[in-house]
Amino acid sequence: MNQDNELASVQAKEIWGKCLSIIRDIVPETAFSTWFSPIVPLQYEDQTLLIRVPSQFFFEYIEEHYYDILKAVLTKVLGKGFRLRYSVLVENATNTTVSYEGGRTPQTSQPTQRFDPFSEKSHQKIDSQLNPAYTMDSFVEGQCNKLARSAGMAIAKEPGKTFNPMFVFGGSGLGKTHLVQAIGSMAEEMHPDKNVLYVPASKFQSQFQEATLANKLPDFINFYKMIDILIVDDIQDFVGKTGTQNTFFQIFNHLHQSGKQLILTSDRSPKLLAQFEERMLSRFKWGLHAELEKPDVETRKAILRRKIAEDGLVIPEDVIDYIAKSVSESIRAIEGVVISLLAQSTLTNAEINLDLARRVVGSTVNVEEKNITIFSIQEAVCAHYHLNVNDIQTKSRKREVVQARQVAMYLARKHTKNSLSTIGEQIGNRDHATVLHACKTITDLIDIDKDIRSSVDAIENSLH
Ligand code: ADP
Ligand code: MG
Repeated sequence: MNQDNELASVQAKEIWGKCLSIIRDIVPETAFSTWFSPIVPLQYEDQTLLIRVPSQFFFEYIEEHYYDILKAVLTKVLGKGFRLRYSVLVENATNTTVSYEGGRTPQTSQPTQRFDPFSEKSHQKIDSQLNPAYTMDSFVEGQCNKLARSAGMAIAKEPGKTFNPMFVFGGSGLGKTHLVQAIGSMAEEMHPDKNVLYVPASKFQSQFQEATLANKLPDFINFYKMIDILIVDDIQDFVGKTGTQNTFFQIFNHLHQSGKQLILTSDRSPKLLAQFEERMLSRFKWGLHAELEKPDVETRKAILRRKIAEDGLVIPEDVIDYIAKSVSESIRAIEGVVISLLAQSTLTNAEINLDLARRVVGSTVNVEEKNITIFSIQEAVCAHYHLNVNDIQTKSRKREVVQARQVAMYLARKHTKNSLSTIGEQIGNRDHATVLHACKTITDLIDIDKDIRSSVDAIENSLH
């Protein structure tokens, strides 16, 4: 380095140091560490400050969001008439740096020659990491997943065009991983030219750490920028990992802006992703939030039948019925029961019957028979219809109250051993004929009215 260069570099450091001390006071700490700390001042010559930024994205982001601040701060430090130039760090064989003029708006600041260091790789086909067992076909549809499933299919047909990002959330074992992988597989099949990638958030996180340690973060980021359909599973694992979140944020923005599809899953709704950066959460709002709910009895039966058929088993209807009614927590738990049943019956050469099912369910899911009482039924019914427990005790003839009362009577008859008159006494002080009439009405309605059927199912689920 000759003397002039050295001087230019020392001056640049000094100027940039002054700028940073001002910027630090005016931007939030996270913004400061994300966007300003990584900048390296290179030289100051002819009233031009040259700074190095880690990536093209970084440059664009700063120009878009911090132009005014930078301009004001530099004017303060350097006076009017200065110029700011960026050098985008490029890690490739020739190790060159390319300079761009900083401009007033993102449009004018767009570099004239777009420099893509990894362009030769951009047509590379990437292994999608999808599990071929998780298909749309094997994903049984039910009320609990209808929206998510059909939105997923729309996305697979036209990635990047419909809902973006798609945010799938729901409790453990309810089918998030299966569904998003099925979307990926379907998209891959329909668009063989597109790069699909499935990655669990925890894997992304460890790749990020490795890349950081090996000084290969730009490679890591560029790899992800090549993806057309990026599926990140269980993003609640990013909670508290600021570095990973920042990098994911960059990738997310880049892909989203380029019309690439993002699909994310989480075990809780975006609202409950506490400690997730606000700017990330606000991105999630752009797309579709699809919740996977607990499956109702009918869906549980359909899933059971499917799993049983897949395993080549024959299981009597009463056993299916029993399992579907007693295992309601998750689809994974249902699968667990089927696997144990199969194992038990092969090991002991026993027939699969209700008895065996009871034992297996008892030991695998650990269900204690919940004590269902007339009172707990009334509570569940009122919770479902958003009523007060007192409401159905009154003489009210309001339609929704009447229906709730009848459903409560019907369920009390079905799930407890109480007599008609006891049920009547405890639910609104009616006589046994009224209870009998209610049971008949609801039994008939369940056959013809879908709303009633799903209400009753939902309430029954909440009882088990
Ligand atoms: P999550 O990711 O929400 O924890 P998974 O996707 O891993 O849940 O699902 C748990 C198990 O249940 C998987 O084996 C999956 O194949 C199965 N499963 C989930 N939903 C369905 C469904 N709708 N139809 C068939 N199998 C399902
Ligand atoms: Mg999962």
